[in-house]
Amino acid sequence: MLPPVKKDRVITELPKCFSPYAALHTNDGFHPEVKAVCQAHKTGTVDLNIAKVIVVGDVAVGKTCLISRFCKDAFEKNYKATIGVDFEMERFEVLGVPFSLQLWDTAGQERFKCIASTYYRGAQAIIVVFDLSSAESLTHARQWLEDAMKENDPSSVLLFLVGTKRDLSSPDQLAHTEWEAIRLSEEIRAEYWAVSAKSGHGIRDFFFRVASLTFEANILAELEKTGSKQVSDIIRLTESIEEKQKPAKKKNNCC
Ligand code: GDP
Ligand code: MG
Repeated sequence: MLPPVKKDRVITELPKCFSPYAALHTNDGFHPEVKAVCQAHKTGTVDLNIAKVIVVGDVAVGKTCLISRFCKDAFEKNYKATIGVDFEMERFEVLGVPFSLQLWDTAGQERFKCIASTYYRGAQAIIVVFDLSSAESLTHARQWLEDAMKENDPSSVLLFLVGTKRDLSSPDQLAHTEWEAIRLSEEIRAEYWAVSAKSGHGIRDFFFRVASLTFEANILAELEKTGSKQVSDIIRLTESIEEKQKPAKKKNNCC
């Protein structure tokens, strides 16, 4: 049996965006249909409850540290190259429903390009990471996104542009880089965040937002797939799935 979701990973309200100028949406709460489905505790099949999230960006921008700060509450100040691909599973409970983020970390090096397509495929969210103290890493963000998008359906992937190492930037430098980053976010339709894995600033809020928005998008997509926005329909659909999944009744061998 899976361990219970950590108490501090329970999401009951939609977390706020970082900047209203570069947000996936600025609604105050979860979509009413999503809330209704969750209240009825009928969210459908198991694959709705896991989202694959890939993290891309230049070498040493802070991808591994971003994930480690959230998943292990740890920060590694000496650089250790990520070898190949790694992933962490982080469990949440969103509106009373268990939900996991599968966070895929990669080396971001040329020699691992051959495994890239497997790594990128089937992502529900893409986190493009850049270093707030390196303008060059922001310029490369677009290329990372293009590569990742080749393997995914642009209409169903949520994009996040995350500037790391916020603790290293002076206020002036930060303001300038953020202006550029928000411009890029608008263009690529990504949600912008600035964080620091060293201090932990913004990390929890960011991942809670990723979990909430992917969860919401998954349920809305499922509602869309059923061909109806009616909650009652999805409830009926999931009931019939559950019915099918029930083990067949044992035959009574007794004479
Ligand atoms: P990756 O190659 O993108 O996975 O980069 P890492 O996460 O391994 O980080 C590269 C280097 O940047 C390491 O030496 C980290 O200690 C440092 N680093 C990562 N995040 C931060 C941060 O938020 N602040 C500071 N000051 N350093 C960071
Ligand atoms: Mg790494």
